Amino acid sequence: MSAQPPKRYWHARTTGMLVGAALLGGGCAGLPNELNMRAARYRLDVSLDPAAHILAGRATIDLVRTDETAVPDAPAALQIWLHPDLDITAIRASGAELHVPTAQRLPDASSEDFAPARYRVVLTTPAEALTLFVDYRGKLWQDVSVGEKPGEIHNFQMRAHISEEGAYLGDGYWYPQPAHGEQDLRLADFTLIADAPAGFELVASGESDPELRSRTGRAAWRSPFPLPAMVLVGGPHEVHRDKHGHVTLEAHLKPNQAAHASGLLAAVKRILDRYEPLIGPYPARQYTVVDNFFSSGFAFPCFTLLSSAVIDMGERAQTTHGYLDHEMLHSWWGNGIFVDPRDGNWCEALTSYATNYYGHVLDGNEEEARRKRRNYCHYFSRLNPEDDKPLGTFGLPGGCNRQIAYDKGAMVFHMLARRMGQDRFWAAMRRFTDESMGRHASWETIRGACEKESGQNLQLFFDQWVRRSGAPRLVIERAERFSANEANVYFSQGEPAFELSGVSVAGWSNPEWMAHPIGFSYQFDIIGAHQIEPVSSSYPLDEIELDPAYHILRRVPPEDIVPTTAATRRGPGLAVVMPRNAETQKNRNAETPEEGERNAQIQAIFESSYKPSQRIVRTAGSIEEGALAERCVLVLGDAVRDSYVAGFLAAIDFPITWHEGGFEFEGTRYDDSGDGLLCTVAHPGVPGGGVTVVYGNTPDAIPREMNIPMYEHSLVIFQSGRPVLRHDFERQRIVPVD
Ligand SMILES: [Zn+2]
Repeated sequence: MSAQPPKRYWHARTTGMLVGAALLGGGCAGLPNELNMRAARYRLDVSLDPAAHILAGRATIDLVRTDETAVPDAPAALQIWLHPDLDITAIRASGAELHVPTAQRLPDASSEDFAPARYRVVLTTPAEALTLFVDYRGKLWQDVSVGEKPGEIHNFQMRAHISEEGAYLGDGYWYPQPAHGEQDLRLADFTLIADAPAGFELVASGESDPELRSRTGRAAWRSPFPLPAMVLVGGPHEVHRDKHGHVTLEAHLKPNQAAHASGLLAAVKRILDRYEPLIGPYPARQYTVVDNFFSSGFAFPCFTLLSSAVIDMGERAQTTHGYLDHEMLHSWWGNGIFVDPRDGNWCEALTSYATNYYGHVLDGNEEEARRKRRNYCHYFSRLNPEDDKPLGTFGLPGGCNRQIAYDKGAMVFHMLARRMGQDRFWAAMRRFTDESMGRHASWETIRGACEKESGQNLQLFFDQWVRRSGAPRLVIERAERFSANEANVYFSQGEPAFELSGVSVAGWSNPEWMAHPIGFSYQFDIIGAHQIEPVSSSYPLDEIELDPAYHILRRVPPEDIVPTTAATRRGPGLAVVMPRNAETQKNRNAETPEEGERNAQIQAIFESSYKPSQRIVRTAGSIEEGALAERCVLVLGDAVRDSYVAGFLAAIDFPITWHEGGFEFEGTRYDDSGDGLLCTVAHPGVPGGGVTVVYGNTPDAIPREMNIPMYEHSLVIFQSGRPVLRHDFERQRIVPVD
């Protein structure tokens, strides 16, 4: 999930943009000078008419000059940007005299799908500071369905939309703003007054202002600290309120979601209780969870938009790490401390670390925490070389992808916390909150806070993990005994070498007279591409294993990656085996039309990353010898009972067996009509590739096909679409001591 949709609009500096601008008025002798001004304060007063999709407003904008040069004494122009469907109806200034006509709309200069309209305002007498009063109005409507994509949780197309189902006035220039560059550090104070029809509840990036509300008789907010932008949303909601210390909590839900209100508000309180001691006080007096009419998990200052589908998940959305806790922590990181746009986006890495990962640590669930760390390493090991870009480039042009930003980022913060000491890491986060709230911060700001709290120089750590791409290919090459109880361990990690502190090694001694092996553990700092370290033990060591708890981000060999559907969804080729259809086989398991439709959708999901020339499709009963040998394999439904497929699965030790009426895993039979499974094992003939079976005793046994890629386990057994058992086929890399 994300902190505000990414900036996808057309940005350019004002310099050089006035190409072909007409002379304004009769008296001007030449093109006026350009004036760069930024907004220090906005007072916005708007009315929404959801039925007519109309927004009408007045923006009062205090502008201050950003130029170093002296104020020109000749007329000068500044640019105002506004949503292209909104029109400026009047404009006045105080502190400067405007030329007439006052605001001229420039021709559209961008071929991209969305760009603000640009207005040119000429000041006859430019000044250091002035206040603009802009009246504007227009119809804001978007086709919401265009941006809705199956299997994706964010609709990034939405910018500014007002309708009876809801209003979303996001980063779409729904109020006039002075022209700005993509990397400008824009922060302004906001006051917002708004109204909408009764029953339509509005929420803004600000704290309610009861004094202003009673004075104007309308909803009113003030930003708790300077913000890059104001966002206003709303819908036909009921308001549920609670209080937690100094924070007013609200849930704005549709009437049919009322049953989820108390659970959501309790979850919000729990999350505040968990994280305020670690990262400092919640930075505002208000927090609202808002039901949204399109797919979103978008965090904004003072509120979070959750899609109806997520709210309707009930307890699962309230307690699963990475949902509500993730969005809430953006109140500190992303929406409280802002990402400095001149450097990469650090807030997703930090938020993913603290919630998606550390939530399990706070639960006391080390098994699940280890699983997350292991998967971060394994998924990273699957990256194509061209996608392996430095973490510090996320959000910059050509920067790294979300997997690096969220997963590698979380792992980097885990390594940082381990190196500093967990308590000192959280102390650094409290310092970060204390010193940077309401300001822009970069990776360097985080490094500074961590160095102050730890007393360590972390320059090299940040250079190798944030500014550099890649991860070490760290392995134990071999281990050689040189005395009864001593051995040398040979590490290698490839070039260029990373400086790795606290690399753990587990060792086991298993003499014949002992009932159970005795374990030993060691830690080393590995800095060389090749390094030899001695280990000693009270009994002769027989076996050792590198970093069994996955504390170090490393690339593991393809055959060690835990098989999940991801292994089958990419590779040199894919064979899909379909069950026989109803026409040709009239038994009880024959494929019905609905099953056929679902199978086709699952097939499409698995095929999507293959070229047509890499894919083959076969039907049970007609599979030629060798068809499944050197390709990833997807077996659907009753095709598992085909004799050729059954022989293939037996040959690769597939852990599930089928019998009349059901299947069996580890001695347990699953014969109920709602029992189903999703199971992937490594394909022995395709390095890093997988064999996946999707099977249900009845069609409703497995979940919605779009959700299938989201299951991150090798085996999931379902009962009527709900997971009842999860299992990973993890391979341990044990090195014998010779
Ligand atoms: Zn996020």
